[in-house]
Amino acid sequence: MKIFVSGGAGYIGAITSAELIAAGHQVVVFDNFYQGHAAAVPPEATLIQGDLADINAVRAAFAAHPDIDGIMHFASYTLVGESMEQPLRYLRDNVVSAGNLLEVAVAAGVRRFILSSTANLFDEPEQMPIEADNKIVPGSPYGESKFFIERMLHWFERIYGLKYACLRYFNASGDTPERGEDHDPETHLIPLILQVALGQRPHITVFGNDYPTPDGTCIRDYIHVVDLAQAHILAMEALDRIGARRYNLGNGNGFSVLQVIEAARKVTGHPIPHVIGPRRPGDPAVLIASSAAIRAELGWQPRYPAIETIVASAWEWHRTHPHGYAD
Ligand code: UDP
Repeated sequence: MKIFVSGGAGYIGAITSAELIAAGHQVVVFDNFYQGHAAAVPPEATLIQGDLADINAVRAAFAAHPDIDGIMHFASYTLVGESMEQPLRYLRDNVVSAGNLLEVAVAAGVRRFILSSTANLFDEPEQMPIEADNKIVPGSPYGESKFFIERMLHWFERIYGLKYACLRYFNASGDTPERGEDHDPETHLIPLILQVALGQRPHITVFGNDYPTPDGTCIRDYIHVVDLAQAHILAMEALDRIGARRYNLGNGNGFSVLQVIEAARKVTGHPIPHVIGPRRPGDPAVLIASSAAIRAELGWQPRYPAIETIVASAWEWHRTHPHGYAD
């Protein structure tokens, strides 16, 4: 298939593009380089620099590639904390960009769409692990923007017959030897811990140790980015059969912040000092995914579920790219 990958120069988009190419698909990357890096885009992919906010740029991309079979939509503002400070970046810009892409896609006759969605839809988990049909209560304007795009897809399926899958990522993490996580500013736990191991930070700050968890720190479900990428490919290849689906994606195992730091100490051999800081607003105590639906329906199986494996893969990339793609 020929897949249009919005945000294909970003962390998850670039690694998924590489996996798509390895699986024999063609890839057209569309990215504005807000967080993406040209060096992350696989050389076999066609790269178009453009912004989804500019519908004419999107139209031009689809006019140049009239044979697109499906879309993977990664391009987005993605930070919960930022969305609490700049809500319109999310409630307006994320939604407008997705709307532009959908308008052009439908006009171009594209009928397959995979959305990067989020665990931030589940601010009130009814049970743990969280099932895909858990009640949706977005935890922030970021989560709300993804919920709204999920609803757009619902109506585009009803009105235009668009086949779609929404993949709600829990904590995407890990790297490949060629591509890794390089955000500016970096806010995610594992790359920040590894910056301590690289001597770039004196310590890691743990955001709160008074949560109702065994060691008092937040528990998250870390999922290797290559396992996420494989889920996208499985879903895209199955869309004609499955139609309209929403899946939660995680390993079904939770690790506390202190457990992740401990895994990084083992992997890197560095003492990685930590200090306890205040809670980060908006962080729930525990988020663990049930991926039962995608396992049962698509046969998805994570290849790299162990936290040490995830951290080791990230360490390999950060050790060899201490300044990210600038190296
Ligand atoms: N975290 C932390 N210190 C940091 C960054 C993150 O203690 O410097 C915690 C954060 O509170 C959360 C977990 O690590 O419980 C994962 O955070 P991250 O930002 O990586 O992902 P999120 O869960 O927000 O998607």
